Amino acid sequence: MSRGIFAALSPSDCRLCAAPLQNISRLPVCEECIAAIQPIVTETCGVCGEALPALSGGGAARGLCSACQETPSLFAKAVAFGAYDEQLRELIHLLKYEKIIPAAGVLGKYLLQAIQKLDPPPKVLIVPVPLHSSKRRQRRFNQAELIARAALKRMGGDRAQFASDVLKRVRPTVSQIGLTRPQRRDNIRGAFQVVHLNRVEGRSILLVDDVLTTGTTASECARVLRKAGADQVWVATVARTLKIAGRAFEDDRQFEQQAS
Ligand SMILES: [Zn+2]
Ligand SMILES: [Zn+2]
Repeated sequence: MSRGIFAALSPSDCRLCAAPLQNISRLPVCEECIAAIQPIVTETCGVCGEALPALSGGGAARGLCSACQETPSLFAKAVAFGAYDEQLRELIHLLKYEKIIPAAGVLGKYLLQAIQKLDPPPKVLIVPVPLHSSKRRQRRFNQAELIARAALKRMGGDRAQFASDVLKRVRPTVSQIGLTRPQRRDNIRGAFQVVHLNRVEGRSILLVDDVLTTGTTASECARVLRKAGADQVWVATVARTLKIAGRAFEDDRQFEQQAS
């Protein structure tokens, strides 16, 4: 969908499909669009969460994708609620680029479902992937933090602690989309720093973000957190690009560029 369509929408139309809204809600998205958002049901890699090719032998039989078999992952396990495609992708865009803050509430609900699949140890430290200060100033919020807070609100009790200030993005990076694997690694290397080592040492960390695309960002965060003494690092995201739904990537670059 082109961004131009929004200009023609009335405030009482769904921001995803343009159908008139039946109920007044803080989130201008219709019930049909929300109902279309479903969790991943295909078989996924037990480490990184990528879709596994059906009925192939070898690694798939052991539940790991070929990349995770070749190179041991820096994080223990990554899970996502849904595929980064269709309505879920548009809902994330609504928050990030259209700045419709109430979208964080429903995205937090999905994130919680991803977290529940992981079943992290009690008292896990939830760390949202940080934005660089320049990006945060421009966007005015960190979507990962808003979504994580919404998930935590639903989680309740002392299942987890929240720390949005232990990990810092010290170097701005360009979008990872369209870069080769070595380019992505160069782009992200040294971009993060742990600023409160005492709060990370010996802790289990649950890194959270809106989308996992290549996993390079999550891997680099896991690397610096473990170097700072973190015990294990888990990753939960609302969405994940899957090879079967991989077409979503390329035009996200345009959204990032338009937004900056
Ligand atoms: Zn709709
Ligand atoms: Zn994998």
